[in-house]
Amino acid sequence: MRRLTALALGALLLAGCAPWNTDLVRTGAVAIERPPHDAVEIYWVSAHNDGATTRVHGQIRSRRHNGLPIYGHVDVALLAPSGELLGQAASDPVPVAPYRRGRAAPGQRFSVELPAPPPQGATLRLAFHARAHDS
Ligand SMILES: [Zn+2]
Repeated sequence: MRRLTALALGALLLAGCAPWNTDLVRTGAVAIERPPHDAVEIYWVSAHNDGATTRVHGQIRSRRHNGLPIYGHVDVALLAPSGELLGQAASDPVPVAPYRRGRAAPGQRFSVELPAPPPQGATLRLAFHARAHDS
């Protein structure tokens, strides 16, 4: 009887909406597109549906071994399976420090909130953009 209850509960959870804290990138519900950038790599991305918006968090790091930090931001676009643009936003500007040879690059977090929830099969396109968004 206890097992039956657990099964019924599990089925209920599966039938309902994904909880807001489910990472849609990890589950494969949302695909990620990252056009390569020569100096900065977007190496980790997660996405969450909070009902009205899509929250995107990620980390970027430098591909360079020396030089000055690169200042820039991440532009994120949410695309429907048809390719229609559902929303886009730019992260706050962040510095991306180069790393020293033999050491891991320091990661820099970014986050963006898009004004629409992700439909099934949506794609997030993320691109690092040096300098300010309007320049
Ligand atoms: Zn931009």
